[in-house]
Order: sequence, then C-alpha cells, then structure tokens
Amino acid sequence: MSNSEFMHEAIHVAYDNVTAGHGGPFGAVVIKDGKIIGVGRNEVTSSNDPTAHAEVQAIRAACQHLNDFQLHDCEIYTSCEPCPMCIGAIYWARPKAVYYACTKEDAAKIGFDDQFIYEELALPMEQRKIPMKQLSLPQSDLPFRTWDQSKVKVEY
Ligand SMILES: [Zn+2]
Repeated sequence: MSNSEFMHEAIHVAYDNVTAGHGGPFGAVVIKDGKIIGVGRNEVTSSNDPTAHAEVQAIRAACQHLNDFQLHDCEIYTSCEPCPMCIGAIYWARPKAVYYACTKEDAAKIGFDDQFIYEELALPMEQRKIPMKQLSLPQSDLPFRTWDQSKVKVEY
C-alpha cells in the first residue's frame, strides 16, 4: 500500500466513526513494514475517556500488536494534525514519522480547537486556568531514589 492509501484508510476510519455515531471525526493508523498494525478512532464520548483520541488509540493498538512500548520503524497516518496530548504520546511512542491530512485550523473551524492548550503551555504555571502547584513532602523523592537503585526496572 502507498502513503496515500494509508492516509485514505485513516480518513475512512474517521468518516465511519462519524456515520456510526461513535465519536469525533478523527481516525489514525500505525504502519510497520507496509502493513497496518494498529487502528484508532476517536472514542472520547462513547467510552467516556477524554484521552481516547484516534492517535492514542492507534498507538495503544499497535503497541499491543508489537508487544512493545515503542513504535520502532513505524509511521502514523492521522486524519488530522495531532493535538498537544497526542503529540506528547507520539514522542513517547517514538515512531519514525507522522503524516496528517487536515490541519488544526481545519479542526478549529468545526469546533475542535486545541489552540488554548498551546497558549496554556506557553504561560507560567501560576497563570494557567487549571492551577498546578507544587506540594512537596519529605518523602517526595522516595520513588525516584528507589528507581535509581532498582535492579528490576525496565528502562525506557
Ligand atoms: Zn489528540
């Protein structure tokens, strides 16, 4: 299959998601060695999961398929430019490339505007809409110290 066929698949998943009344108009596929190894569709409203974006769902499916926590040598095709959460997930999954069809500006026109997250990230913590404050305890670093010395950890 070609690049445009993979993108066609991502767009088709997004379209089906809307016609089935299953969730937002977003779909994604993960490709490895020319094959689809993970499909994701937006399931935020149908699964009551605000993190169930198409890219995250596709990453989860592909990682399960590979039995790995990384997407080595994989490509992600998504029907729309990833939001900041999905960009974070993509960086953690470490695929080799991402292709997107619609832009975030296209998504904003139909009510899916993630620009406020970019603006929030650029603000100092104390100026953000959702307060994020440090609350440190004497044992705060216990998990870190334990990890540092652990002989059973799987580094990533
Ligand atoms: Zn997203």
